[in-house]
Amino acid sequence: MKRKTTRVVQIGKIAIGGNHRVAIQSMLNKPADDIQGNVKQALELEQAGCEIIRLAVPDRNAIPTVTALKNTLSIPVVADIHFDYRLALEAAAAGVDKIRINPGNIGSDDRVHAVVKACQQRKIPIRIGVNAGSLEKEILTKYGSATPQALVESAMYHVSLLEKFDFDDIVISIKSSRVDTMVAAYRLISNQCSYPLHLGVTEAGTERMGIIKSSIGIGSLLLDGIGDTMRVSLTADPVREITAAKDILKGLGMHHSGVVVVSCPTCGRTKIDLIHLAEKVEQALVGCEKNIRVAVMGCAVNGPGEARDADIGVAGGDGCGLIFKKGKIIKKVPEDKIIEELLKSVEAL
Ligand code: SF4
Repeated sequence: MKRKTTRVVQIGKIAIGGNHRVAIQSMLNKPADDIQGNVKQALELEQAGCEIIRLAVPDRNAIPTVTALKNTLSIPVVADIHFDYRLALEAAAAGVDKIRINPGNIGSDDRVHAVVKACQQRKIPIRIGVNAGSLEKEILTKYGSATPQALVESAMYHVSLLEKFDFDDIVISIKSSRVDTMVAAYRLISNQCSYPLHLGVTEAGTERMGIIKSSIGIGSLLLDGIGDTMRVSLTADPVREITAAKDILKGLGMHHSGVVVVSCPTCGRTKIDLIHLAEKVEQALVGCEKNIRVAVMGCAVNGPGEARDADIGVAGGDGCGLIFKKGKIIKKVPEDKIIEELLKSVEAL
């Protein structure tokens, strides 16, 4: 898949844009001044594969949390700030790797200039994050509602406030909870500028619906070659956002490591408990870094052939399993040894 080439923006040790792969991010949801709680959650997210972590900075009490995160994590930390430019200055001084702030919301040019200077000195990029729910009144009046064009106009207005001070270390997001609006807005803006884009469906919902909406929205854009970093927003434990983001990339064949499990839907030919077997295999391979496809198929008649592009697989028989490699059967094992034998075969690859 050909990706649109965007400018490279360096966020701490992670670069996005250009030819860099799509970075996965999430946001902490503990109270901003709860240092221990945030550090613990951030470590869980880092362990799960989060590559960029964001925290809300609603007031000065969150700054010690920024410092603690910077002292603990090896992944970059982003401060999410609304309205108060002084918080951006403090977060920059505390060593954040990126600031999410909309310059149009912080008041006079002097304030914007102060934030720009602080970011320029420390090479801190700024993400402009436009959301359908918080568009400027004039833009809403002009377009009547939060249309894709309205979102793009708002984003480009904020961009112009930074460019005025020669600042171009910019990332843009233009999120909506409506998938069609979000997709159209990102497509539009990707034709109008080359800043890297942070993809997301905002207020996507609870885990199941949120993953479905994010998969459609983020997935459609990634298939278009659009998007440099992504956040799957879920009303759930943020670790679930990382799992979902990785799975979206896996589903698109854009993951850089990790196993893709393919499994059949089962039918009248299935003679083993394939549903549980597939779940167990998927769980057993969660931490495996090998970039492979593993198939879990319900029958020996069609399984190995249908999954011949899998690196390794198992097809269920009557009380047994046939382990196959690239469609060729290599071993017959008893049903209670299927997982053990399959994992051994994965290990041997
Ligand atoms: S692989 Fe076999 S069991 Fe699975 S759906 Fe196809 S025919 Fe049915």
